[in-house]
Amino acid sequence: MASATPKRSVAIFGSTGSIGTQALEVIRANTDMFEVDILTAQSNDELLVTQSLEFNPNAVVIGDESKYEKVKTALSKTNIKVFAGEKALEEVASFDTYDVMIAAIVGFAGLRPTLKAIENGKVIALANKETLVVAGDIVMQKSIEHKSAIIPVDSEHSAIFQCLVGESRNPIEKIILTASGGPFFGKKPNFLVNVKRDHALQHPNWSMGAKITIDSATLMNKGLEMIEAKWLFNLQPEQIEVVIHPQSVIHSMVQFEDGSLKAQMGFPDMKLPIQYALGFPQRIKNDFPRFSFKKYPALTFEEPDFKTFRNLGLAIDALQSGGNKACVLNAANEIAVWAFLKNRIGFLDITAVVEKTMEYVPFIQSPTLQEYFESDGEARNFAASMIKL
Ligand code: NAD
Ligand code: MG
Repeated sequence: MASATPKRSVAIFGSTGSIGTQALEVIRANTDMFEVDILTAQSNDELLVTQSLEFNPNAVVIGDESKYEKVKTALSKTNIKVFAGEKALEEVASFDTYDVMIAAIVGFAGLRPTLKAIENGKVIALANKETLVVAGDIVMQKSIEHKSAIIPVDSEHSAIFQCLVGESRNPIEKIILTASGGPFFGKKPNFLVNVKRDHALQHPNWSMGAKITIDSATLMNKGLEMIEAKWLFNLQPEQIEVVIHPQSVIHSMVQFEDGSLKAQMGFPDMKLPIQYALGFPQRIKNDFPRFSFKKYPALTFEEPDFKTFRNLGLAIDALQSGGNKACVLNAANEIAVWAFLKNRIGFLDITAVVEKTMEYVPFIQSPTLQEYFESDGEARNFAASMIKL
């Protein structure tokens, strides 16, 4: 009798977030295929404990060290190893007990543990786009060196990845990233100047963490995704286009050298790209709602409004310049979005902070990893000084 396929052991970095919790839903529905080895969270100790009691991982990390005792006590009747702090994230990423890391930490904080998992030769299901935005050249180089496959979870990149299956000999002419346009699609600066946090947090099509929801409203998210795509698919900046597609049904497209376009479509539901990355190359049967063309009589497309949503232009500048520009853009954006979420600055100030920080931090053509970390720190300090944090 043929033996059953062994379960894939999954490490979820950022398990309490939007992507992390949806990844656990996928695993819960497929316990014959997947088991949980590592869970990590920054501050939501209660959810981390609940998840741990349900999925019984080998190890958990709570980022906030002041919550270590609480988590340790709550899990004292189990064999789960409990760690705390930033360094522990890298330590557990170096374990050889798991097969796939779901990189679902938000922001620059995801870079170090993801790099450790790559050096550890693991498969990376990558949601944390900032990892590639900050240091894409080094991340991709290491993934080749250590034979660590990076499978995108971001829906646009998953779409492109899916369109490329079976096309390894066929060069890409260009890719078209679709963007919903966010909650302020069609609005002008005289409206945006008064936008507040709660309005910006209401995305029309996707329910996501706070940072990416604001990035979607400012279109910075699409800019970060252009940079992410450059590294994932080895593209030149001019091969990457963005089109506004408010229904978010086409998740992105690839155009080949014969002019043929392939698109991947479906309901906007992150569980699909998460599941695809976890199961790749296999597609897993599920009961997610099916898309019906009859219910969507029109799919529409428009040019982005570069004049109003200037973050997109700044990201394209970073994409074209290369070097540490995208790292600086990302750091300034993280600080500015955080300040906006705390009602410290206005919506349009986010762009001003990013732009000024990009002008201020000196350009480095081919940064080392250390120089990326330094550029990130310098950009954060400058952005914070502008906001007077
Ligand atoms: P989220 O804010 O909902 O969750 C973030 C997770 O990271 C939480 O578990 C949190 O505890 C952890 N975390 C936060 N700060 C940390 C730190 N400093 N150190 C360690 N852990 C930390 O975010 P999300 O929406 O799930 O997004 C996660 C990543 O996935 C982001 O990079 C985002 O761009 C990307 N992504 C998300 C979606 C989505 O639908 N949510 C879609 C595409 C890509
Ligand atoms: Mg996306």
